[in-house]
Amino acid sequence: MESKSSSSNFIRNIIMEDLEAGRVKEVVTRFPPEPNGYLHIGHAKSICLNFELADEFKGRTNLRFDDTNPVKEDVEYVESIKKDVQWLGFDWDGLFFASDYFGKMYEKALLLIRKGLAYVDDQSADEIRASRGTLTEPGKPSPYRDRTPEENLDLFERMKKGEFANGEKVLRAKIDMSSPNVNLRDPVIYRIVHAHHHNTGDAWCIYPMYAFAHPLEDAIEGVTHSICTLEFEDQRPFYDWVIANCETEAKPHQYEFNRLNLTNTVMSKRKLKQLVEEKVVDGWDDPRMPTISGLRRKGYTPEAIRAFCREIGVAKSYGVVDERMLEHFIREDLKLKAPRTMAVLRPLKVVITNYPEGQVEWLEAENNSENEELGSRQIPFSREIYIEQDDFMEVPPPKYFRLFPGNEVRLKHAYFIKCEEVIKNEAGEVVELRCTYDPETKSGTGFTGRKVKGTIHWVEATQAVPAEFRLYEPLIRDEDENEENETSFLERINPNSLETLQGFVEPNMKEAAAQDKFQFFRHGYFNVDPKDSEPGRPVFGRIVSLKSSFEVGKA
Ligand code: ATP
Ligand code: MG
Repeated sequence: MESKSSSSNFIRNIIMEDLEAGRVKEVVTRFPPEPNGYLHIGHAKSICLNFELADEFKGRTNLRFDDTNPVKEDVEYVESIKKDVQWLGFDWDGLFFASDYFGKMYEKALLLIRKGLAYVDDQSADEIRASRGTLTEPGKPSPYRDRTPEENLDLFERMKKGEFANGEKVLRAKIDMSSPNVNLRDPVIYRIVHAHHHNTGDAWCIYPMYAFAHPLEDAIEGVTHSICTLEFEDQRPFYDWVIANCETEAKPHQYEFNRLNLTNTVMSKRKLKQLVEEKVVDGWDDPRMPTISGLRRKGYTPEAIRAFCREIGVAKSYGVVDERMLEHFIREDLKLKAPRTMAVLRPLKVVITNYPEGQVEWLEAENNSENEELGSRQIPFSREIYIEQDDFMEVPPPKYFRLFPGNEVRLKHAYFIKCEEVIKNEAGEVVELRCTYDPETKSGTGFTGRKVKGTIHWVEATQAVPAEFRLYEPLIRDEDENEENETSFLERINPNSLETLQGFVEPNMKEAAAQDKFQFFRHGYFNVDPKDSEPGRPVFGRIVSLKSSFEVGKA
């Protein structure tokens, strides 16, 4: 794998201290997604962090599905998550489901009850919420708080047997109703949910709450560094309480880091799911989605995503990363890897009047001027070609060096051509150009007779392959800072996020395979769409344009 990051990572320092002091023998981390949606680029940050840290110290990383909530979870998500983690380039050591530990968690709940550290509460969810107190006021103890362990064991057993309805009873940890940390005011640790679970079926009708389950899952797996995002910081005292009182063998510790936020997108599975369900996008893997599967379909590479995650580093401060930083890394990755070919997205026909009719010649074109290893290809040239509509202007503004009546330009890899005549339709639109070429100016022959200022790309017309091009813009626009009211992300959907064009590519691109990547002269990097491309009729989605005003390190 690539070299380690130079960016800050305070968790690495903690691990090194733990190893040096002998507190930890082998580093064990885990990536614990809830299988309730597809992974997004924020998860990639967490995946890279967990796997790369363990890797660096020759430790282990588990993939663990945190499937403690039976109603929102699905096997489709489990499969997609596995695929995405592997695609990013990581192999997990253990593959686990939190639901595999339901039995052990239940035992721990019994242990807490016996120790007088948990009780069954008959209050409703609303009553519990209302008696929790506030940041400034202590909570009120439940009237059921002093039930004896015997009574609690009996009731909890009956909860498990299914004698009660959803919400009729809960099990709560007995900690401190006046703790300044609201999370320690007797949090609920088990609830009744009569629902089918994707893994355990109907074996259970009581389910552990996330905050109780998570530290136990970590302990069961011997996780040493349980890394999560900052919103769990206030939960850490409860995490430690569970570890301290449940008599687990392993003693994991939780560390929090800042989650990744990106400009011009939303990054919560709940919101992304809404975009899918309301058909704003064409599925979780729509190339405009910030999901791993969307980025993959857009043409992002694992290398680019990992380099990005390394660059953004890990800290404790809130921040929003410019989406252009992500784009920078895919450009860098594809710069030398992608063949550079020609595509015409908005075609304008050009007839070269002094080129012999019926003649076709093959020209040599290098595939990447910065990487000789990619070799070269042969492209046809004849009397009829397509150029880009905006490479011609009838009335050019100053400093326009491309084609206009009477002007001469270089055709990339071919000859100089000069615009002699403009053909229009009845509506007055330019539909064709008549040009002449100069055989002396053939590319690669060392012609120095005269210079032209513009070089344009083209595709030979008779053999060109028709292709669809998809140009993307951000799906969700960031909120206008001057806006007074907060706008929902659904109101900020960009109506122009997808533009579809019908144009042409070089004949050799007929064979382009799904996920092949190219740099099209002047247009940027494109990926062969894996869903919609057909043999002989490729669909190219733009990964990123060629240049951006943004420079990494100068933001
Ligand atoms: P979402 O709100 O998008 O559903 P989540 O935190 O609920 O995210 P989980 O499936 O619980 O999603 O997340 C698995 C792991 O990924 C957790 O450790 C979580 O902290 C981490 N994670 C989720 N979102 C981000 C993010 N934007 N940046 C970094 N890590 C993240
Ligand atoms: Mg979640």
